[in-house]
Amino acid sequence: TKNIIAIDGPSGVGKGTLAQWLACKTGFHFLDSGAIYRSLAYGVIADGIDLQDVAALSELAKTLPVEFKATSILYKGDDITSKVRTEDVAAVASKVAAIPEVRQALLERQKAFAQEPGLIADGRDMGTVVFPEAPVKLFLTASAEIRAERRVKQLKNQGNDANIAQIIQDIKARDERDANRKTAPLKPADDAMLIDTSDLSIDEVCQKAESILWE
Ligand code: C5P
Repeated sequence: TKNIIAIDGPSGVGKGTLAQWLACKTGFHFLDSGAIYRSLAYGVIADGIDLQDVAALSELAKTLPVEFKATSILYKGDDITSKVRTEDVAAVASKVAAIPEVRQALLERQKAFAQEPGLIADGRDMGTVVFPEAPVKLFLTASAEIRAERRVKQLKNQGNDANIAQIIQDIKARDERDANRKTAPLKPADDAMLIDTSDLSIDEVCQKAESILWE
């Protein structure tokens, strides 16, 4: 399909919520590419794979036993939906995501989501690497502090404790790894529309995207 909307940006900018909202609104398929990297990280931790062992990491990436259901993620049939949402998994995800062989191994799997009637693709490199042909690309940004606050709220809603200083630090470390890696560093595609969500509610982010997409 050529109907692809690529939505990229760092964590905590409201990408996921916007992407899901757009998928509902359009009836398009939804690709949460971060969940693929997180599922890989989950497998890496579960199997005790060394983060230096590129051969083992790319082998697992190629054969990743994960299935995406409407509201859940299954790994070898086990429900890991909430397990992949932890900061520990996110940290390992961003480390394995820096390895070119791993990114390459996950490429076809991501491209396979582009089915009729269309796709909303959420990630870091949707517009630059995975779907450079996407006719519509949005790149969301927000300050690290605002993103950390949103993350803390999210963790508290899930009943978890949260240390804001630690989370700001984690977010900055992850941003730095994502922005400075050699393969597919986090940056907007040349033809992406930028949306700064620092001062916007999630409704306002959706409205803004809607006005860009259907004006
Ligand atoms: O978006 P999410 O926080 O779930 O992604 C987890 C990690 O996976 C990111 O920090 C990033 O390092 C990696 N990732 C990536 N490319 C993507 C999506 C996620 O490198 N398209």
